[in-house]
Order: sequence, then structure tokens, then C-alpha cells
Amino acid sequence: MNFQFTEKTQERIHTIRDFMDTHLFPLEKAYRDFALTSPTGVFPQMEGLKAKAKAAGLWNLFLPEDYGDFSPGLTNLEYAPLAQEMGKLTWASEVFNCGAPDTGNMEVLAKYGSPEQQEQWLKPLLEGKIRSAFLMTEPQVASSDARNIETSIVRQGDEYVINGRKWWSSQALHPHVGCYILLGKTDPDGPPHAQQSMIIVPPDAEGVTRVRSLPVFSEHHFPGGHAEIELKDVRVPANNLILGEGRGFEIAQGRLGPGRIHHCMRLIGMAERTLKYMCRRVKERETFGKSLSSYSSIRQDIARSACEIEQARLLTLSAADTIDKKGIKEAKELISMIKIVAPKMVCDVVDRAMQIFGGKGMTNDIPLVEYYTTGRLLRLADGPDEVHMYQLGRNLIKNSNTDSIRTQYLDEV
Ligand SMILES: Cc1cc2nc3c(=O)[nH]c(=O)nc-3n(C[C@H](O)[C@H](O)[C@H](O)COP(=O)(O)OP(=O)(O)OC[C@H]3O[C@@H](n4cnc5c(N)ncnc54)[C@H](O)[C@@H]3O)c2cc1C
Repeated sequence: MNFQFTEKTQERIHTIRDFMDTHLFPLEKAYRDFALTSPTGVFPQMEGLKAKAKAAGLWNLFLPEDYGDFSPGLTNLEYAPLAQEMGKLTWASEVFNCGAPDTGNMEVLAKYGSPEQQEQWLKPLLEGKIRSAFLMTEPQVASSDARNIETSIVRQGDEYVINGRKWWSSQALHPHVGCYILLGKTDPDGPPHAQQSMIIVPPDAEGVTRVRSLPVFSEHHFPGGHAEIELKDVRVPANNLILGEGRGFEIAQGRLGPGRIHHCMRLIGMAERTLKYMCRRVKERETFGKSLSSYSSIRQDIARSACEIEQARLLTLSAADTIDKKGIKEAKELISMIKIVAPKMVCDVVDRAMQIFGGKGMTNDIPLVEYYTTGRLLRLADGPDEVHMYQLGRNLIKNSNTDSIRTQYLDEV
């Protein structure tokens, strides 16, 4: 495996860094202050920043296929270090139209949408004119096992009628939201993996009620929130169904692979910046007549953090490379591994930094609380740690029947 970035990728990394240094980091405090005081508003500079990013060619970088004017067609491995840079500011990916859940939804529409669906929803998403949400999780069932999802999607003539309740629908309350992609059951009595389908629901359809915004650690996530949504006799045209009845799980598999690479690389960006903060802070403070930097426990915290960040980075790059070369199915185990490793790594690294920073680590003056929140929520969102371990462990045990025990270790000696 060779993770040496090509010259073109290195150039892009520098371009993103320059762009963020010039246009985004100077607004970091303004953004945080605005988010704290106007939790439902859109940051006034956001649209202007997007226009600048588009003009600089830093737009839709996540899409692995070449979408002409819409995207440069980078591989997952080429995009990974760019996501890492964007992660350093929790809101930067939106500026480059590379934010979740839009990226996953765009991938679904690009891969599985009909030409009409692509024209109506993918195009405005790629242009950054609308935002989107993904409605899977439900309050009344354990949704980490997606087979439990109950929302019903029933065909009636040229329409589907939808009834159910969703929650934790990220970004569903964004003022510019134009499209919900919903998972629900079209065939509740069919084989377990063919019961679910995905369908596009316009947020303003009759019968869609946004019940409330769910705070994370007592804060409403700005500006799209995480919504609880009731769907009561919502009628949408039959053409809004994606790919076909019973194909929901197949689409979900295709949606989540690259998205997990993006999340993990952004988390690595957060951890890297945290490490820099830590290293600088310990040089600035003294206790008991000695610099904090001279204490062994502090050096261990810093050293351990550096090791964990690099481990997570290499694992994530390996997953990205495997998706590019062999496809999502072959990369399944590596994708589970990074989803288990990266969010926990950020929580651990940021927790050490909070301790080293003392009281300042708990403030909003530096982004540690934001980073911790992101790492912690990603130990649940896109599948809890335990579910990934359950599936990864199962696969490893199953595959051990086919491998010779000697193959992995002794044959290489
Ligand atoms: C901030 C945030 C944003 C989110 N955004 C979205 C979104 O945009 N769209 C969306 O649809 N959902 C979203 N989610 C929901 C998220 O995907 C779910 O919370 C997650 O899948 C878990 O489902 P659940 O909450 O129903 O927990 P449950 O399924 O009830 O699971 C609870 C716990 O049980 C344990 N568990 C489950 N299975 C096993 C097992 N096999 N072995 C051991 N332990 C196990 C785990 O610890 C798990 O956390 C978001 C969640 C958060 C917190």
C-alpha cells in the first residue's frame, strides 16, 4: 500500500489550506458566536463563502465520479486528506458542499436516482441551492438494527402513502432543506432484507410535521438541527421511490461506505488540531516551578495521542484505498474498523487535551467541546460502535474457517 499523495492531491491540500486560512479561520469566532445566539439562522457569510469556494474549484470534491462541471471526480483516497483539512473547522465542509448528510444523499441520487429524480433533487443539491436530510431512525424501535424500522410506505394508484415517526433527522430543520430521503417498509411480510425501500419526501408535503429539534449535550445543532418528524398520510408521487421496492438496504450499503471515510478523516483533522493546541499550551504554562511540558504524564498524553491519530489515519486511508480498488463490499471490514476506531480516538485525544487545558478546555474559546461532541455523537450516528464490532467480529470468526491458520503468520516468515 502506498499512501504517497500525488502532486495533484498535494496541490489541492495546499489550496484548501490556503482557502481556509484566508476565508474561514478568521471567521471561526464569529461563526461560534452566531451559532450560540441564533441557533436556527443561517450564518450570514455562508452563501458568500460557498460562492468563493465554487469559484476556486473547491466544490463537490467528495463525489468519486466525474460529474462534469459539478465535481472534479476524485477517488476516495484523493479526497481523504481534503476531508481531513475541512474537519479542522466543524462547519467548513458545508462551504465546499461536502457536508453530511448531503454528501450521502447526493451519492444515493447520483448512483441510484432516476434521471427525473436527478434533475429535480440531485442538480440543486450539487449546485448547493438546497439541503437535505436522511430519515431512518425511529424513536419507538431500536434502529441500530434497521430491520426494525416500521414506517409504512403503501402504494395507492400513482402515489405512495407514508405513515410513521422519525427522529435524529440531521439538518431536517435547515431553512434551505428541499429533500428528505426516507427509509420505510413497502413489504412488511417479505424477506427481512427486502422489506425496506427508500423514497424522496418533499419537506413541505402535507402531513409532514416537524415536532421538535433535539439538542445534543443541551445544544441545538446549528443551523439544521436534528429533528423529530411525524409523517401522517403523506402522499408522494410513485416516481419518488428510489431504485425500486425492497431495495432500501442495498442503497443504504452503497450510501454509508464513503460517508464513513469522510467522517473519519474529518475527525482525524480535529484530533490533529487538538494535538497542536496541546503541544503549544504545555509550553506556555508552569506549575510547581516547572513547565507543564516537562512532566512525564503530559508527554505521555501527547505521545499516546500522536500514536492514536496516526493509527487511525493509516487505517482510514487503507479503507479509502480499498474502496477505490475493490469496491465497498470488499472494504466492508475496514469501513467497520475505522468507524469503531476514529470517533473513540477523537474522544480520547480531546479528553486529554481538556485535562491539559484546565478550565479553558471547557470553554468555547477553543473548539475542544465542539470536537468532543462530534466524536461522541459519531460513536452512535451511522451505527453504534457495538453494532460495528458485532458485525466485524462475526465476519472475522466466519472467515476464519476458510483461511489456513498458518497463512497469516507463519507463511510470511
Ligand atoms: C447527533 C445524531 C445525529 C444523527 N443523525 C441521524 C440522521 O441524520 N438520520 C438518521 O436516520 N439517524 C440519525 N441518528 C441516529 C443514529 O443513527 C441512531 O441513534 C443509531 O443508529 C442507534 O439507534 P438507536 O438510537 O435506535 O439505538 P438502539 O438501536 O436502541 O441501540 C442502543 C444501544 O444498544 C447497544 N447495541 C445495539 N446493538 C448491539 C449489539 N449488537 N451488541 C451490543 N450492543 C448493542 C448500543 O450500545 C446502542 O448504542 C443520529 C444520532 C445522533 C445522536
